Amino acid sequence: MQPQIILLKEGTDQSQGKGQLISNINACAAVVDSIRTTLGPRGMDKLIVNPRGQATISNDGATIMKQLDIVHPAAKTLVDIAKSQDAEVGDGTTTVVLLCGELLNQTKKFIEDGVHPHAIVRAYRKATNIALAKINEMAVKIDKSNPTELRNILEKCAATSLNSKLIHQQKDFFSKMIVDAVTSLDPLLPLDMIGIKKVTGGSLEESLLVKGVAFKKTFSYAGFEMQPKKYNNPKIAMLNIELELKAERDNAEIRVDNVAEYQKIVDTEWNILYEKLDLIVKSGAIIVLSKLPIGDVATQYFADRDIFCAGRVTEDDLKRTMKGCGGAIMTTAHDLNDSVLGTCELFEERQIGGERYNLFQGCTQAKTVTLILRGGSDQFLEETERSLHDAIMIVRRALKHDAVVAGGGAVELEISKCLREESRSVASKEQLFLAAYAKGLEIIPRQLCDNAGFDSTNILNKLRARHAEGGKWFGVDVTNEDIADNFAACVWEPAVVKINALTAASEAACLILSVDETIKSPRAGQDYSQGMQQPGMAGRGRGRPM
Ligand code: ADP
Ligand code: MG
Repeated sequence: MQPQIILLKEGTDQSQGKGQLISNINACAAVVDSIRTTLGPRGMDKLIVNPRGQATISNDGATIMKQLDIVHPAAKTLVDIAKSQDAEVGDGTTTVVLLCGELLNQTKKFIEDGVHPHAIVRAYRKATNIALAKINEMAVKIDKSNPTELRNILEKCAATSLNSKLIHQQKDFFSKMIVDAVTSLDPLLPLDMIGIKKVTGGSLEESLLVKGVAFKKTFSYAGFEMQPKKYNNPKIAMLNIELELKAERDNAEIRVDNVAEYQKIVDTEWNILYEKLDLIVKSGAIIVLSKLPIGDVATQYFADRDIFCAGRVTEDDLKRTMKGCGGAIMTTAHDLNDSVLGTCELFEERQIGGERYNLFQGCTQAKTVTLILRGGSDQFLEETERSLHDAIMIVRRALKHDAVVAGGGAVELEISKCLREESRSVASKEQLFLAAYAKGLEIIPRQLCDNAGFDSTNILNKLRARHAEGGKWFGVDVTNEDIADNFAACVWEPAVVKINALTAASEAACLILSVDETIKSPRAGQDYSQGMQQPGMAGRGRGRPM
């Protein structure tokens, strides 16, 4: 009798081989199924309630994937590619997940027939290279020498991205606003220089773009209303100092045995405060912002001298004001001079809906803008913010990278056609895998049709025929249940979105295909997501003796 070799701990779950691969592919298919209906302008939204009971309504692939809290180890790869697509280009997150799922799905029949996954992986890598070359060849360069032309192009890009969102009816309004916002930034287009504030109430069209910094009026004391609310070219002091008298009992314990002594302490307290206020006033600043509270005495003191003040400004806003208006955030009232004071062209406090906003416009240093969004409900505003974020990313990308392709499944079909032609020139079984990749790409136009309620087989047939005749920009027309030249219809997308999505999707597909065994140790088996716990540590929690 052969002695049994025990290699792994008792209870270890080990699954391997073909069965394991198929089960990984199925897990990915399940994830894809959960977001496939969100693709495209006619995509549906998802309402996700988290364990704390907060509801999110979203159409954005990355947001949904993040909220889903997937524990399957292979399916987690899809979450990762959605996140990386979001971070890299900011759009095309649903596309990337859908593509990866479909590429895997196409391989299932080969795996079941006993094809070695590496043969497929090799063919998929080749197909990706062909596809990328094709996109680069097709992409249309944007001419940046003509500003009006460029602006037109950017607005169209933003509108395409907003097409599939909740706010698609206001897309003209918002695409103008977004292009205004992005083009007023520095050449590097830093994303954190675009602030987005939300004020509930009012209609979407009442949203406004402030070329500068804006934040909600902070808590204030009596005396605030006497301060002027509008200045031209003010000097702005940004402080991290408390300008408030504190009750003695908060500070320290002091023992005194007569009233005179006590009076001295109180006087000193006031003197310290007055000294600070005096220094600030002498510096010439007429707007005083502080991260810490500004008390009633200080507020009144400033009001008497026609100075505007705001305490408890959040760190984000103060930093953006500093970056926008110049100067520095000071932790002392001494040496306040022109080099640390910021300035802007116009400061005013304005009523926006039910809120009062402090607006700093025409910033001198870095260019910064703030979008103030208006709308009915919080959730709606949040989805609006996410949609605008997508569109902002697209415009930034289009400005940085200067090539666009037609969307609505047009590029995918053209690449698919090109791959099919290529596959016919290959003699080995690679031919089948290239054709499978080509078929996988068709998922994008197919899903766009399905989501819009069209007959996808019919439209895909028309599209294939049109592409074979050389109509390379033909894609799904979601308004007329037909096909259309999407380049002419301005359904554009930056080429990088497609390049990134294709690369990431096929990388992930190859990664999943090359895994043929999962070994789960018994402890980790209870919860994959906390696989950090070492089996040997079982039973010994934090703080307990080993
Ligand atoms: P993603 O998260 O991948 O960006 P979207 O829901 O934004 O997903 O859908 C993007 C897809 O919808 C792209 O393939 C794009 O080409 C397509 N699309 C957007 N607008 C239109 C339109 N007006 N007509 C046809 N297709 C469109
Ligand atoms: Mg999108």
